[in-house]
Amino acid sequence: MGLWAAVHAERLGVDTMLVDAGRFGRGASGGVLGALMPHMPDRWGGKKQFQLEALVVLEDEIAALEEATGLPAGYRRSTRLIPLPKPHLRKIALGHSEDAERHWHHGERHFHWHVLDAPPVDSWIDPDAGMSGFVHDTLAARVAPRALVDVLTAFLRKARHVRLAEEVEIERIEPDSGRARSSRGDIRFSRCILSAGHRSFPMLDGLTQDLASPLGQPVKGQAALLKADIDAGLPVIFRDGLYIVPHEGGQVAVGSTSENSFDDPFSTDHQLETLLVAARTLVPALADAEVVERWAGLRPKAIDRDPMVGPHPDHPSLIALTGGFKVSFGLAHRLGEAAVRDAIGIEPVLALPKDFSLTNHINVASNKM
Ligand SMILES: Cc1cc2nc3c(=O)[nH]c(=O)nc-3n(C[C@H](O)[C@H](O)[C@H](O)COP(=O)(O)OP(=O)(O)OC[C@H]3O[C@@H](n4cnc5c(N)ncnc54)[C@H](O)[C@@H]3O)c2cc1C
Repeated sequence: MGLWAAVHAERLGVDTMLVDAGRFGRGASGGVLGALMPHMPDRWGGKKQFQLEALVVLEDEIAALEEATGLPAGYRRSTRLIPLPKPHLRKIALGHSEDAERHWHHGERHFHWHVLDAPPVDSWIDPDAGMSGFVHDTLAARVAPRALVDVLTAFLRKARHVRLAEEVEIERIEPDSGRARSSRGDIRFSRCILSAGHRSFPMLDGLTQDLASPLGQPVKGQAALLKADIDAGLPVIFRDGLYIVPHEGGQVAVGSTSENSFDDPFSTDHQLETLLVAARTLVPALADAEVVERWAGLRPKAIDRDPMVGPHPDHPSLIALTGGFKVSFGLAHRLGEAAVRDAIGIEPVLALPKDFSLTNHINVASNKM
């Protein structure tokens, strides 16, 4: 998220320093999955409309950065397959198909939630997995998380307005005196965008009065990367929280667990092995695929589940940019842009849903809602 914010700061000519305690993009964003999954097309509202627009424009945003850097981000609108194992699920899917026809369009572009009797491609998902058919969603896409981080970082290394500082840990933020205490001394600012993933929450808690609950929590996720001789253009598969994401270069990502409590944030265990067994059953082509990496990270989950973006009501020079939880990659470009525009006091290109504001999350955490 912070990398995207810095890209927008550069474009807007805002003098900025991007600081990271470690190397850029090695937090939750340095994983392997990169699924860009739309919300369901039913019960339409502002949040779903915002995500739709963000998912559509991301394609051009990434293309522009690839062009500027000469590096690939591993983006592809690969679409998504969802097996329907029971007849009642097909009925629901047919309703969603009508919802998608109504809502899934942006400019000239239309996307669909097709309900099919059989998978649209051979030698991929087990046809028996969809006893009542398959959804084929044409809006879903994927990006290679580490490749995207490399593209964003390469763009910023050539920036005129953004300075980069790795291995600098922010220990405390004092928004009212415009000072951040860091492991390398004090940093002065007129505006500070706090985009430290799940570690943003305790910092914000410490600057907020009368909270009844913390503003957010880390949720652990585990995923794996497999090597397989498959077409990188195959659809992403989704079933009950299991994602199978084909990437370029014969790599397939499998994820993810969702763990509210854990002993070791970065270890992998039997829960990931269970997901791998499920993936190999659902996709016979992966039965013998070698696991080349097992990975775990901590997602930032804000108290109200939605992203947390915008100025602190008591410290307006401090702007939150976190809480992307499971959908950060599809929204970060828009959220980062909104945070930078907040920082310089101009209207966002696309207004954020009110529920995303830091003020909303503080109200929820203070039992004011
Ligand atoms: C297994 C797994 C699978 C996932 N799959 C998907 C997916 O398919 N699609 C999707 O959209 N999302 C997915 N997510 C969620 C997504 O990865 C996260 O929501 C997203 O990466 C969060 O980005 P962020 O910039 O907020 O946090 P991070 O990427 O964690 O970045 C925070 C940065 O802040 C730095 N930092 C922290 N504290 C300090 C400090 N005190 N001083 C200085 N720097 C600091 C860290 O070093 C880090 O670089 C997945 C997450 C996991 C764990």
